[in-house]
Amino acid sequence: MQWAALAAGLACAGPAIAEDCLNPDALGTLRTLEIDPARFARIGTMQYPGTLPLKPREIVLTFDDGPMPPMTSRVLEVLRHECVKATFFLVGRNAKAFPSIVRRIAEDGHTVANHSQNHHLVPVAGALGMQEFDLGFQAIAAALEPAGAKPAPFFRFPGLLHSPVVENHAKAKHVTVMSTDILADDWMQIRPEHILQRALARLEAKGSGILLLHDVQPGLALILPKLLRELSARGYRVVHIVPKSGAESSPASPPAPLVVEAKKAPVASKSAARKPAKEAQPEVAEFPVIARWRKLMEASRKAVPLAAKVEIANY
Ligand SMILES: [Zn+2]
Repeated sequence: MQWAALAAGLACAGPAIAEDCLNPDALGTLRTLEIDPARFARIGTMQYPGTLPLKPREIVLTFDDGPMPPMTSRVLEVLRHECVKATFFLVGRNAKAFPSIVRRIAEDGHTVANHSQNHHLVPVAGALGMQEFDLGFQAIAAALEPAGAKPAPFFRFPGLLHSPVVENHAKAKHVTVMSTDILADDWMQIRPEHILQRALARLEAKGSGILLLHDVQPGLALILPKLLRELSARGYRVVHIVPKSGAESSPASPPAPLVVEAKKAPVASKSAARKPAKEAQPEVAEFPVIARWRKLMEASRKAVPLAAKVEIANY
């Protein structure tokens, strides 16, 4: 079979996790699942015939569109508190702007993957689609390089707007295109409680699968503690996906042959990643809305302190 389970039955797998896992009631990570991109080109039943070989009530948590403080930071806090490992599909330009958060995601033991360079929300095919694919991997690789880490060879199309040209490009580079099985509509203008309801209702209907969330969405960041508590109460268990050993580096290594800008990106990204003092400037200058969200996240910490028990709302 194409999959190989690594660790099994560990609420807090690995020394780094065990050291940080101070919550005896944590949801935890049940097991780790290796994915071989050379054999699994496309997964996720929303768009493709097959998905991960999960057992009933096993879920894979994925977060798209980051990194973006303070929401991504809040999501990482919540995941750490619950000793849960997830996969983050990052946008390359965000990775370049906030490389320290990219490294924190990796250092927390999560899988770091690619969600394109600029997250165009229109169908992007041909040379531009491949450029977005390649530059995204390069920007994320540059952010991870100081930590000695590399992006996983997993790619998710922005808006799930897939194209055969880019799908074939991914396959040629031994990258798994990962769609999803379940959406929570957390990018819509709906109340956080409705995100919770939709995620749980769709999970119950499906029984298991890949759950797509957005770590950049304040509503999701606010409701995530309750979502994970409710998953635990309902008997769901988290599976962490990782690339098959030795497959981590292939996507970022070859330069994008079609685009001149592709050769410039790693230099700029590496420079930014190695000088963390410069990170504070784009955070303020490029994302003025962040100050408002930071206040929301601070309010969330006060309302749902992670050191205390989290009450699950009835609905
Ligand atoms: Zn997205």
